[in-house]
Amino acid sequence: SNGGLPSAVRWAHLLMEDRLRPGHAVIDATAGNGHDTLFLAQLVGPEGHVWAFDVQEPAVLESRRRLAEAGVTNSSVIHSGHETMRDHVPAEWHGKLNAIMFNLGYLPGSDKSIITHTATTLQAITTALELLAPSGLLTIAVYPGHDGGTQEQQAITEWAGALHPRQFEAQLIRPINRSASPPECWVVWKRG
Ligand code: SAM
Repeated sequence: SNGGLPSAVRWAHLLMEDRLRPGHAVIDATAGNGHDTLFLAQLVGPEGHVWAFDVQEPAVLESRRRLAEAGVTNSSVIHSGHETMRDHVPAEWHGKLNAIMFNLGYLPGSDKSIITHTATTLQAITTALELLAPSGLLTIAVYPGHDGGTQEQQAITEWAGALHPRQFEAQLIRPINRSASPPECWVVWKRG
């Protein structure tokens, strides 16, 4: 397209479009304004399930509003950190999730001091791999350009590099000819 190559989040969406089917069960680990939650909810359809998480109440309310406006009934938006996802997704779904999406950093247009943090991000992405079904997909949009983002990126780089190749495939999609710290898309596929 004349819009150039996909952004980090657009890459995540393209991968989700490729892999998700009606009836699938997914997590949006960072609901924000609910754009990704709605996108996922529409891909998995009324027979599917979406659990979305955010620590900010305004984000939770806005995501719920967006879903209701679109007539979506397959999604729950949970006011809790993604590091608690195991406690909020019913046990019968553990190990059965088809995809989990993270869009890190702060919510554009809101309080920029509310960001994801390295320790809880690492805890959550580790839990996410455990909750995924075989052949399930994890995507993480990472923003190294903001305060704390560089540390988070370095931690994810070490974490992903240590994933066992017999259990996971891990890839990184990032611009390579820009001087700033551009957003990047990390992808982990759990072997089937
Ligand atoms: N996916 C969102 C959308 O479509 O609008 C954008 C997400 S925004 C880049 C990152 C979000 O992560 C913020 O809304 C922030 O409140 C949230 N966040 C920060 N720490 C979190 C945590 N521990 N668990 C879940 N969400 C968290």
